[in-house]
Amino acid sequence: MDEPVAKNRVWDKNELMDRPELENLQLYRLRQVMDRVSHVPFYHQAFAEKGVTPDDIRTLEDIQKIPFTTKADLRDHYPLGFLAVPRNKILRYHGSSGTTGRPTFVAYTRNDLDLWAHLCARFLVAGGLLPEHTVQIAFGYGLFTGGFGLHYGIEKVGAAIIPAASGNSGRQLLLMQDLQTDVLVCTPSYALRLAEVIQQEQLDRTSLALKYAHLGAEPWSEDIRTHIEKELDILAFNNYGLSEVIGPGVSGECVYRNGMHIQEDHFIVECIDPDTLEPVPPGEQGELVFTALTKEAFPLLRYRTRDIASLNPEPCPCGRTSVRMSRITGRTDDMLIIRGVNVFPSQIEQALLKIEGTAPHYQIVVDRPGSLDTVTVNVEMSPAVFSDRMSDLQALRDHIVREIQSITGIQMQVNLVQPQTLERFTGKAKRVIDNRGALS
Ligand code: ADP
Ligand code: ZN
Repeated sequence: MDEPVAKNRVWDKNELMDRPELENLQLYRLRQVMDRVSHVPFYHQAFAEKGVTPDDIRTLEDIQKIPFTTKADLRDHYPLGFLAVPRNKILRYHGSSGTTGRPTFVAYTRNDLDLWAHLCARFLVAGGLLPEHTVQIAFGYGLFTGGFGLHYGIEKVGAAIIPAASGNSGRQLLLMQDLQTDVLVCTPSYALRLAEVIQQEQLDRTSLALKYAHLGAEPWSEDIRTHIEKELDILAFNNYGLSEVIGPGVSGECVYRNGMHIQEDHFIVECIDPDTLEPVPPGEQGELVFTALTKEAFPLLRYRTRDIASLNPEPCPCGRTSVRMSRITGRTDDMLIIRGVNVFPSQIEQALLKIEGTAPHYQIVVDRPGSLDTVTVNVEMSPAVFSDRMSDLQALRDHIVREIQSITGIQMQVNLVQPQTLERFTGKAKRVIDNRGALS
């Protein structure tokens, strides 16, 4: 077992609840939420079709009697068909960032906003946040849940907030220096960007007080974590959430950083095979499904996230009794089917990170010029290896092609591009350009 990277602190004793007590609470809350949504037209109809009522839920396994809710169901009831309270009870609306199409809206009552802040406070404290810290939020403030969600969680802990919002790296670094920011909140790709700007500007690291980063909202790998931690000389923690479930605050890492603790007193998690819809055993990858137990305005039951991860029910040395989820390895709708083979962008990243001399910046372009899919990976070279000796570049390119092929089984075209030529992102990174839809 790895050593904890910081002092283990717990925000709220519910995090340490015994498993049987926790499961009893979940069961009680599950029946309650079924009652609360029974007048939402979608659930009213779905419960009637399945012939299921709260009385049929006698054990947690009985959750399988409840129908799933999907993104398509949300779109079919756009904009607010899933509201479970009258509109005059709503204090706030947010929306998904629309990574995969038209945004969907979600809503919060006063209690929902309190709960959300509380859940964010929990994972932030688990990841080292102290009331005396100064935290810079470099997430967008807007419909996206990241900015406001973290903002009120940090306020709950009692730390100071710099609501810098996203973008403008020069100004971010100025704020970090002049206000002596301890903790950074943003996407992993933006943390990478800031690290890069610090290097380019040859900024004196000792002029910064930065100690921690809480990163989330998009997939990232352990290698990227190592890179960010080394470059920024900080500890970086992973946290996960999605607007449909609540926003950030669904899960986050403790100081042992061996999976993200799911806040199970408020969410029931399942991990299913996305094809058969059957549960997969612990440790196996599947699609995460969440049921929000305590939300008022917008509680979704068995929401299929399309996020792929595995669950670990083993006890954690931090004392929290909740199940931990692995990093997200991809989204089912992220998955590229290349000549019939399933490929996740994260596999290509995995290949690149094994190779010295490639920067963590790449772009995947998929085409179908005739009847066969082609994939081109544009890989940015790090300034250190950037050289115009053709033989070196050829060897580097061949190495990348082989590495990608050994992980994905597919031969892809690789282009090496000069340092600083691929787009940088201030929010979620967009690394895949799929031109096939346009052609078919
Ligand atoms: P959208 O689906 O439009 O991106 P959200 O802004 O609600 O909507 O983003 C939620 C999604 O972001 C999750 O479903 C997941 O795919 C991704 N995500 C959030 N946090 C993480 C994380 N720590 N690691 C990987 N992916 C994450
Ligand atoms: Zn733990």
